[in-house]
Amino acid sequence: MTTVVDKLPFVDLKAQQKRIRKKLEEGVLRVLDHGEYILGPEVFELEERLKDFVGTKYCISCSNGTDALLMALMALGIGPGDAVFLPAFTFVATAEAVALVGARPVFIDVDERTFNMDPRSLRDVLLSHSPDLGIPKGIIPVDLFGQPADYLELSQIATEFNLFLISDAAQSFGGVYHGKRTCAFGDIATTSFFPAKPLGCYGDGGAIFCNDDLIAEKLLSIRVHGQGKHKYENIRLGINGRLDTIQAAVLIAKLEILEEELKARENIAERYSLRLEGGVVTPFIKPKRNSAWAQYSVLSPQRDLIIKKLSSVGIPTAIYYPLPLHVQEAFKYLGYRAGSLPVTERLCNEIFSLPMHPYLDELTQGRIVESVLGSIND
Ligand SMILES: *Cc1c(COP(=O)(O)O)cnc(C)c1O
Repeated sequence: MTTVVDKLPFVDLKAQQKRIRKKLEEGVLRVLDHGEYILGPEVFELEERLKDFVGTKYCISCSNGTDALLMALMALGIGPGDAVFLPAFTFVATAEAVALVGARPVFIDVDERTFNMDPRSLRDVLLSHSPDLGIPKGIIPVDLFGQPADYLELSQIATEFNLFLISDAAQSFGGVYHGKRTCAFGDIATTSFFPAKPLGCYGDGGAIFCNDDLIAEKLLSIRVHGQGKHKYENIRLGINGRLDTIQAAVLIAKLEILEEELKARENIAERYSLRLEGGVVTPFIKPKRNSAWAQYSVLSPQRDLIIKKLSSVGIPTAIYYPLPLHVQEAFKYLGYRAGSLPVTERLCNEIFSLPMHPYLDELTQGRIVESVLGSIND
């Protein structure tokens, strides 16, 4: 028997908005009143708050998480002839930014339990890498679904091979690794404020974090068309990479409740795992890490059946990611074959994500869990 129910939201942004609506309105109205829509005071206030939250010397807000990666690569001078190593199991933006600056993305397989870049695979690929395919310059680990990557091991490899490390923390803002917040690792860390990320605005937004004075100076210049001492002096190539003042105002209001929301996500993830254990492969979080739980993703060889059953009772799911990057049409020119990154490929066939947001109530969650378990036992 199937009962028709109202479709649940996969991420409920409305519940959050209802909670902080007054603060949001006040913040946005303040921007309408002062009228500094580009690089207004809220942008700098947000940057101050974000860098205090993360614990870095600099935070440079920007237009989105993809531009954050692009700007980071530009600041490090990466371009044609260079090779940058990144996981094959990630959102396309990580590899896209590398290709856009003219460097070669080199795909690394991931750990089958954490879904993050596997340091052993990275070392193997680095040791057998032919410089004809680009001089190894850097690595971009991704904190997939919110869990911080293996920064200790990866930083060691970066030092050993003389590589930069950019941390793609687009999904992990608020996560913790060995007592420090994500975005505090690597030479540069980038994040995204896309609405559905753990900290999201009402449009596009992003931020870049670093501790180095020179890198920060370059990033500030790149953010405004490579400007020098003033707006119409251009000392390098840059982009239009600014965050809107209105979005900064939205983020200031949301940052205030982020820690509470992270705790709520943690509880929801724990409840899911407790009840789904045995039915599907539940997320594995390594010790000394807190995920920001951007997604709650599980594995099952019966994925397609489960998704279909859930959809028939109004429960949304998502597949992150159905296709590994190395077999995408856009990266065909790199010459990878299917079968070359086996863990990534298996994950793409078995993974799916369940509704996850801080306002998922226990009753609804119970219904989701029962539907998942029920569809396996059918
Ligand atoms: C979302 C995301 C990005 C890009 O962020 P946008 O703000 O959408 O440009 C980059 N990397 C990863 C891993 C992401 O999940």
